Amino acid sequence: MNTTLTTCPYCGTGCNFYLLHDDIGQLTGLEPAANHPVTRGQLCVKGWNAHAFVGHPDRLQTPLIRKNGQLQPTDWQTALDLLHDKLRTIATRQGPDSLMFLSSAKVSNEENYLLMKLARAGYGTNNIDHCARLCHSSTVTGLVETLGSGAMTNSLSCFAETDLIFVIGSNTTEQHPLIGSRILQAVQQGAQLIVADSRRIRLSQHADLHLRHQNGSDIALLNGMMRHISQEGLEDRTFITQRTENFSALQQALEPFTPEYVATITGLSSQQIMDAARLFAEADRAMIVYAMGITQHSHGVDNVRAVSNLALLTGNLGRPGTGINPLRGQNNVQGACDMGALPDVYTGYQRVADPQIREKFSAAWGVPLPETPGQMSTHAIEAAAAGKLCGMLVLGENPVVSDANQTLVYQAFEKLDFLAVIDIFMTETAQLADLVLPAACYAERDGTFTSTERRVQRGRKAVEPPGQARADWQIIAELLRRCGLKGDYTDPAEIMNEIASLTPSYGGIEYSRLEGEGLQWPCSDNTDPGTPILHTRTCTRGKGHFSPVTYRPPQEMPDLEFPLLLNTGRTAFHWHTGSMTRRSHLLDREERQAFVEINPTDAEKYQLAERQQLKVTSRRGSVSVRARLTERVPPGQVFIPFHFAESAANVLTNNALDPESGIPEFKVCAVRIEAC
Ligand code: SF4
Repeated sequence: MNTTLTTCPYCGTGCNFYLLHDDIGQLTGLEPAANHPVTRGQLCVKGWNAHAFVGHPDRLQTPLIRKNGQLQPTDWQTALDLLHDKLRTIATRQGPDSLMFLSSAKVSNEENYLLMKLARAGYGTNNIDHCARLCHSSTVTGLVETLGSGAMTNSLSCFAETDLIFVIGSNTTEQHPLIGSRILQAVQQGAQLIVADSRRIRLSQHADLHLRHQNGSDIALLNGMMRHISQEGLEDRTFITQRTENFSALQQALEPFTPEYVATITGLSSQQIMDAARLFAEADRAMIVYAMGITQHSHGVDNVRAVSNLALLTGNLGRPGTGINPLRGQNNVQGACDMGALPDVYTGYQRVADPQIREKFSAAWGVPLPETPGQMSTHAIEAAAAGKLCGMLVLGENPVVSDANQTLVYQAFEKLDFLAVIDIFMTETAQLADLVLPAACYAERDGTFTSTERRVQRGRKAVEPPGQARADWQIIAELLRRCGLKGDYTDPAEIMNEIASLTPSYGGIEYSRLEGEGLQWPCSDNTDPGTPILHTRTCTRGKGHFSPVTYRPPQEMPDLEFPLLLNTGRTAFHWHTGSMTRRSHLLDREERQAFVEINPTDAEKYQLAERQQLKVTSRRGSVSVRARLTERVPPGQVFIPFHFAESAANVLTNNALDPESGIPEFKVCAVRIEAC
């Protein structure tokens, strides 16, 4: 039996485990890394089953080209020549910005770097984005503005050093289970817990205060808390004076948010708002934890600004046991952002619009680079549906199931002249493609991944990929060569050296330094031990900036025709569009089909029964799902997980976008329910 240490392919927690494999290259299981600082000998149910899909018979093994309406096997040379030819022809005839490149939070840093290099230097467009657009683009925009860095400020170890944890919009025990267990351990050891979530999630059962505020009313709640903190004189005056700016503007903006007014918006009592404010402000060290319940709104960036304002107001920044802690979803969504798989920045958030930065990358890559920032992926889908985009290369993403308003996404892909997909399974998006290339999965290639706490870690190859499947970096390198750019990388370590040479925050990242615990960026050179806590003396931008925000309601609220509010999210057993977890026998057994959580009061009102098959309809479409009657959701709200393609929640969701981050409002839309 052989063992290979690697990083979990699912959530952004960054657990490490040993893949177990035999001499004929078959994975037989895995074991958690006992001494790893995140894993500490434990895994969640997804982690324990992360080997199960690797050898699945559905794995793609040969390149496929569409001929006469059917995808048919071909060889790599033909497939890559066709792909390059199509992309080059579209760029020449319709212009480079007629192309869109979708990178992935599931592939490595090196692969994200190469794809963004390919888009910019190879085909001349900044139209590169990835699924952070759907989860934490609001975080990047909001926290860069207020602090200068769009990442989690503290480390997971800080949960052992805090006095209070405020979890808002994160079902942590299901989405980031090992972080959820750290929160529960902190509570056991005496930390206080405030949970703000309309659903009765597991953490809320252990909370000192559970705020079941109306979905989409976070700004009102946070502003109400901050106003009460100021009224009671509980703000951190020293921190505000020495470390922040624009405080008077915040004070002015908070004025209307009296407890009574906030109560009318949130559905909470005035007393709950005042209790939350006092509890939070009186803690010496308080951590704020949030996830997509904050970001996935048409006002997601404002939500993040409000979170940041609360931390600055109370001086909960730059110390152990404090901080603003957005929990990143997929295992490399932090890294994909860091690598510049975004339309407006290169690696390390260096701006495309900055001529000096552009010149640096241009000199390194040997070609002139486009000046105008590119399109966000959500705008690209709209453009494609309107016939304004011609070609798209999708790497390891499945927008047909993951993006809001599935009908629009289908329209977009149908209108494209050319769609290519690189993936490990025949996803719903790959089924629409003109060209499908088979990729190696995490267990079959080397690379690095950056976890939610900015920890850069190794992923290691344990077994060979199936059939002719290749590592994504090898596929992209072939395209770089065809574009006349450097593509002769011997391994991902060489790619990381190139990244480090161009990226100040990754300047000290090299493979030889990543054995063991990895390194947390910023890590400027090869003597830098990394940075567990950001903004310790000053914020990355200098002073912490108060960005006042005001409440505005979600774009589509329940009404007479669609009387229920739909909330969407994940379950503990599945991951994103289910392409990997639904091919893992044990995980599939636990949760085999979609369901809709509905409060028993509503079930009685609409005469619905447990396990009854229901039709859920929004203004965008209908899906059929099974009823699950539960007090987890409040009356008036229903919840559907988005993993199940055959009952895709995103048929229903609203593609109303945040005007700054372009994130869709996945967390609120209006639906009606009837028996099928
Ligand atoms: Fe993997 Fe996340 Fe579970 Fe850890 S908590 S084992 S990283 S899915």
